[in-house]
Amino acid sequence: MDIVVVSNRVARVKADEPVTGGLAAALLPAVTESGAIWVGASGRTRDVCGKEPFVEVEALGKGALATLDLPSAHYRGYYEGFANSALWPALHSRADLINTSPQDYASYREVNCYMARALLRFCRTKGMVWVQDYHFLPLGADLRKLGVTQPIGFFLHTPLPGRDMLVTIPHHRELIETMLAYDLIGFQTIDGKRNFEDYVRRELGLPVVGSSVRSRHGETRLGVFPISIDTELFANRATKAAARPEVSRLRSSLQGAKLIIGVDRVDYSKGLGNRVRGFAELLDNEPSVRRGVTMMQVAVPSRGDIPAYKALKSEIATLVSDVNGRYGEPDWTPIRYLNKGFSQTTLAGFYRTANVGLVTPLNDGMNLVAKEYVAAQNPFDPGVLVLSEFAGAARELDAALIVNPHDSSAIAGALGRALTMSAEERSERWQTMMKVLRASSVQLWFANFVRALDDSAYMALPVVTKVPTVPATGSRGSEAPVVRFERH
Ligand code: UDP
Repeated sequence: MDIVVVSNRVARVKADEPVTGGLAAALLPAVTESGAIWVGASGRTRDVCGKEPFVEVEALGKGALATLDLPSAHYRGYYEGFANSALWPALHSRADLINTSPQDYASYREVNCYMARALLRFCRTKGMVWVQDYHFLPLGADLRKLGVTQPIGFFLHTPLPGRDMLVTIPHHRELIETMLAYDLIGFQTIDGKRNFEDYVRRELGLPVVGSSVRSRHGETRLGVFPISIDTELFANRATKAAARPEVSRLRSSLQGAKLIIGVDRVDYSKGLGNRVRGFAELLDNEPSVRRGVTMMQVAVPSRGDIPAYKALKSEIATLVSDVNGRYGEPDWTPIRYLNKGFSQTTLAGFYRTANVGLVTPLNDGMNLVAKEYVAAQNPFDPGVLVLSEFAGAARELDAALIVNPHDSSAIAGALGRALTMSAEERSERWQTMMKVLRASSVQLWFANFVRALDDSAYMALPVVTKVPTVPATGSRGSEAPVVRFERH
């Protein structure tokens, strides 16, 4: 069966480069091994006025990678405008940061239509299309308009917040209604699925029966598919990475001090400010740990052209420099702050070197760094994961030290506990988390979704036909629509 996977960002198999974002990082091993065609943006734009989409195709593992230049007239409005200044903030419960215009929305819809046209050449009768993430909410409906009949699924990598947040998105009704053109919609957690059901019932007035919604588009199934990582691959990478120069230099530079590591894009959803404040509180509360501990925060620049991100980058840089200025010594810098990305192999070595993995997003669909940190640990001397209760990963990794990321004192407390935890407790918690990770690889996530989408091919499409009712007394002689359900 042909599987066409669509996402805004794609990744290539170059072992030694950073991957930007969890979506591309997660999809890469799954797509390469499944033989799917992965379609996404090339990262370039072009003047496409009146022209058909130009797609470049190259081999990718057992499958192929197809990239296209997006229309230059609409790219900014689509990507920075609507996707990342309306949808992203609202989906992460930051409606106060929504900053978009009607033109942005028009561009978002335009790019979705353009992507739909580009996909047509890959849509064979026997295949399926699997759309990824908030950049392409209406893509399924756009494909249906072009006559695509095979199963189309959608997976949301971000959280799906409650109705009170969803209604802050401009055009939310139109957008969410078009999502019902998908045969299957997958969420990271049960909360996302429940919030979607609640929205559909209360805002769209549609019935949700079991895990299905019936709409004018037909039947849409809803499911929970927590994304994961290639656990064994990460564990192997971590073992091999110990010999890498960056990793051994990091180890020797610590001179016996313990290491706390954070790895994130610079994004307001990641809770970087509170994390730094939490570490500073630890240094305040327990002066004896100073010099004996260092925090290293890898903070990869992200979406730098959006004002909210620019402001955040300088806010965090100022905060880090205040902490270093206040607590630092001639021979000790409390926080090592790195505004650049590393390859996943190097990261795996950093994770294994660190005694504590500090993952405290205010809101996160899953957070793969949390899973990678666990997978990379030395089984004979594992570190401790401190994890936000608002990361999707906390649903599965509940043997971590779970914290409220809004509470910097709670972060300080959890850090103190992690740094002094007994070897037995560390090992017990780590083994519990590894069991979960070994049972849920990204390959399994991919296969489960594809199977569920394939099943949805047996679901029904509504065919609305007008049949005359038996003329009777009074007003009952009109034509009433009859809805039949047929397999497609
Ligand atoms: N990553 C990377 N190099 C870096 C920082 C991050 O390759 O320097 C990868 C990391 O290994 C992880 C992904 O980027 O797979 C981040 O995913 P996560 O779900 O934690 O966050 P997102 O960026 O998707 O919000």
